[in-house]
Amino acid sequence: MNTPETIAIKLTQPGERAVKQGHPWVFDQSIEKGPVNTAAVGSLCVLFDRRTNRPYAFGLWDPGEIIRIRIVHRGRHLKWNEDFLKTQLQQALLLRKSLQRNVNGYRAIHGENDGFPGLVLDVYDRTGVVKIYSAIWIPYLKNVMRLMQEVFRLERLVFRRSRKLVDHGEILYEEGGVIGQPLSGEKIPFEEYGVSFYANPVSGHKTGFFLDQRANRYWVQNHASGRSVLDVFSYVGGFGIHALKGGAASLTSLDISAQAMEVARENLLLNGIDLSRWSPVVGDAFNKMTGWIREKRTFDMVILDPPSFAKQASEVPAALKQYGRLAKMGAALTARHGYLILGSCSSRISMEDFKNIHQNALKKGEWSVIREAGHDVDHPVRFPEAEYLKTIVYRRR
Ligand code: SAH
Repeated sequence: MNTPETIAIKLTQPGERAVKQGHPWVFDQSIEKGPVNTAAVGSLCVLFDRRTNRPYAFGLWDPGEIIRIRIVHRGRHLKWNEDFLKTQLQQALLLRKSLQRNVNGYRAIHGENDGFPGLVLDVYDRTGVVKIYSAIWIPYLKNVMRLMQEVFRLERLVFRRSRKLVDHGEILYEEGGVIGQPLSGEKIPFEEYGVSFYANPVSGHKTGFFLDQRANRYWVQNHASGRSVLDVFSYVGGFGIHALKGGAASLTSLDISAQAMEVARENLLLNGIDLSRWSPVVGDAFNKMTGWIREKRTFDMVILDPPSFAKQASEVPAALKQYGRLAKMGAALTARHGYLILGSCSSRISMEDFKNIHQNALKKGEWSVIREAGHDVDHPVRFPEAEYLKTIVYRRR
């Protein structure tokens, strides 16, 4: 691989404005003056002001992507070295201190929002899982991973990369490879607010668990006592296990994946929860819910946290319909005085859009909003595209 170099860049006016306003991405068409020959991936870009000719931001170069530069620092000066990276990691750690009293599974580095664009670090107890979504980090991985282990006191790191980087010949680490002390098994137990879960960092979705809904899971734990609970799109049991821990009378978990349901069972056992309160259902959410509505079944708490329905812009209209349909179905399954919890993890659908859909789907006068939640402290948001998670709790009057 070519070694990264330092390159001078000038952006178009709109491109420069966007970066100055805090946006972390520079698209290829925003580059007015760039490297004459192709520069190596990960090269340090110095962005010079169009008017004053002084540096105002620094980023890393990615010749293979339309997001050509990802910003790593805003300001006049940057010493791109280990001290800088270590300070960034220490700041990220500091931001998460308040969580660590009750939680040992958390997102330690949330990509561009923590100054590491295209890179995620999730921590499960003493194991870190690094996932790279951009090739810009390849030249720096060895050092960055050593610093991560040091700052976050990790015994090991598991290395993951996004699908588009799987065939990238330059990466020194294998997908799912372990750096540091070997793993004793593929599943790693961790804790949040008195509940234990297994993460599967080697072969699970993303880094092995969905950490982002933690605060809402905890809310569920605190409001589930004595209630019958329905958790739809339950994955490995997240919301529902918190409900049982909080004294729910019963839990029905519904997911299309039999494999996820099996891990949910293991998670229940890990918490010493008696399986007699639990009904696992493997099947399609829309089908099963339709059947239950026909039977006039209701629950005191209904949780609907589906996968993203709008992965690209063209899917937004259809996604809005799906969210509306789900809200209607959830409402029909919620008993009087019950809670209806609706989640969306699509960054293309705003909180406002999400609420508007519910206004049309839920009967007027019958529901009050009692909680609106975005991201927890370990998923900081520094630009609009990062704002993906929305969860609203309604209560039936
Ligand atoms: N609520 C979970 C995360 C949900 S991820 C948590 O907090 O951990 C989305 C889940 O939806 C996945 O487990 C996937 O298997 C499931 N899923 C996707 N399509 C589905 C469908 N049509 N019916 C039921 N489950 C589905």
